[in-house]
Amino acid sequence: MAGDFRGIGMTSQRSRDRLVSQLREMGIQSKKVLELVRNTPRHIFIDEALASRAYDNTALPIGFNQTISQPYIVACMTEALLADGLPETVLEIGTGCGYQTVILSKLAKKVYSVERIEALVHRARQNFRALDCRNIFVRHGDGNLGWMERAPFDAILVAAAPLGVPPALLEQLASGGRLIIPVGGSGHQELLSIRRTAEGYEERRLDWVSFVPMIEGMG
Ligand code: SAH
Repeated sequence: MAGDFRGIGMTSQRSRDRLVSQLREMGIQSKKVLELVRNTPRHIFIDEALASRAYDNTALPIGFNQTISQPYIVACMTEALLADGLPETVLEIGTGCGYQTVILSKLAKKVYSVERIEALVHRARQNFRALDCRNIFVRHGDGNLGWMERAPFDAILVAAAPLGVPPALLEQLASGGRLIIPVGGSGHQELLSIRRTAEGYEERRLDWVSFVPMIEGMG
């Protein structure tokens, strides 16, 4: 048995190294982000039947018509979030299985995450316990409304695409803070980086992306 476990460990170490090289080739530069992708066990977030593909650079199904994000997208959004240094508090919308949340929890003091599907909230909590992440707080709710009681946030990362930027998220961003959000209809969304300044908001497009839609209300 122990031998089997070692075998899996070695295979996944090789595939993790390969994933990190791919992300580097695709333009991810932050050493911190690349190390986090290398050291975060993505296989524990997905069904065992898909475990052999855990370190492929693709989105994978997690049930409920949802996916665990593509590692490149997670790395790209995380890197964009770090443009102004390490945030103290982060709000994530769309916890899913919690992979991105765990990566954020290694960079920020506290991570607050909102998910509309209750079963995923429970699954994510189990994953956080298994990885001993104690600075993550998850809530079942509608991410369009943010998490007002915990605002303002130094950074907000949204993992599902609304048709327009929800006003509550702009309001809950601290001055100097940054919001990373995909915006647009299905299959063709722009990934925006929005910085709150003393005068207002500065917006920049990072990329074209394809996220699951952000749905109104709770699941
Ligand atoms: N962050 C995840 C990916 C999540 S996929 C990862 O690391 O892989 C997007 C998630 O957003 C889904 O779980 C979906 O249920 C959730 N979602 C969609 N609309 C939402 C809303 N209005 N509020 C909160 N979560 C929402």
